Amino acid sequence: MSGGDDGGFVHCAGCGALAAGPCARCRKPVCGDCCVLTSGGAQPWAICHACNEGGASLSRGWVTVLGWLIKPMLVLLALYVLLYWLFGVE
Ligand SMILES: [Zn+2]
Ligand SMILES: [Zn+2]
Repeated sequence: MSGGDDGGFVHCAGCGALAAGPCARCRKPVCGDCCVLTSGGAQPWAICHACNEGGASLSRGWVTVLGWLIKPMLVLLALYVLLYWLFGVE
């Protein structure tokens, strides 16, 4: 992170145009055409196409993990409701 201040203009790593900002993941400067906005939290992130493709598989993995977490929780919830319905209601 040094020496990036020559003139204040940073050029896109993909096409050489004036960069709009750094990629949120690999920190390469990218222009508006070479990045995509992704909503990964409170504020939208601009990431380059290479990182976007990598992130797609990553988020797909998270969906799988979330599915594995949610499925047993749903089964427990169903059991709890069933037990409550059988024994909890006087
Ligand atoms: Zn570009
Ligand atoms: Zn990137």
